[in-house]
Amino acid sequence: MLNVVIFGAPGSGKGTQSKKISEKFNLAHVSTGELCRRAIHNNTAEGVIAKSYIDKGELVPDDTIIDILDSFLEKLPVDKGIIFDGFPRTVAQAEALIQIMKEHDTKVSVLLNLEVEREELLNRLLKRAETENRSDDNMETINKRLEVYEKQTLPVIEFYRKKRLYKPIKGIGDVNDIFDRISDILDELK
Ligand code: AMP
Repeated sequence: MLNVVIFGAPGSGKGTQSKKISEKFNLAHVSTGELCRRAIHNNTAEGVIAKSYIDKGELVPDDTIIDILDSFLEKLPVDKGIIFDGFPRTVAQAEALIQIMKEHDTKVSVLLNLEVEREELLNRLLKRAETENRSDDNMETINKRLEVYEKQTLPVIEFYRKKRLYKPIKGIGDVNDIFDRISDILDELK
């Protein structure tokens, strides 16, 4: 079964590419950012916790995000592969994901890292701030999210590199060209 982690800084295009990947390869798309926004919208206990971190540009604590993810995965069909978008974001989450996948009798097939330089990320995030109404797309929070990414999330790359599951992808240029690069890798794995 194909289980993909799509990885990259905020604004690297994870959401856009995840949608295309889930359609072509028939995978369930799981975005922990979307799950948080839904929990906030529904005013659940986890949503209230998540909001206090998201609005500051910080990561939601590992145990909360893992609980949110777990309850979503329980409802998914067991025979479908998954694309994880925005998870794992810490090494502790990467370790938890091994366990979660074990419980579902499967494992992560690959981590695709969308590589985009910081200046381009800032441009994209500021543009998105104008079109999408996300509470965390403002200059102060964007800078904080990029800093959090570098400090807390980047070490996840090394975790997957050691397991030989790491694939870097050039994340700039035409959306379809980026998707072609991803497809070439996933075609070989499926
Ligand atoms: P995203 O939509 O992936 O950019 O996520 C938006 C925000 O949700 C992030 O800035 C975090 O505050 C929170 N979030 C999403 N996924 C995670 C995760 N795996 N761990 C911790 N916080 C997360």
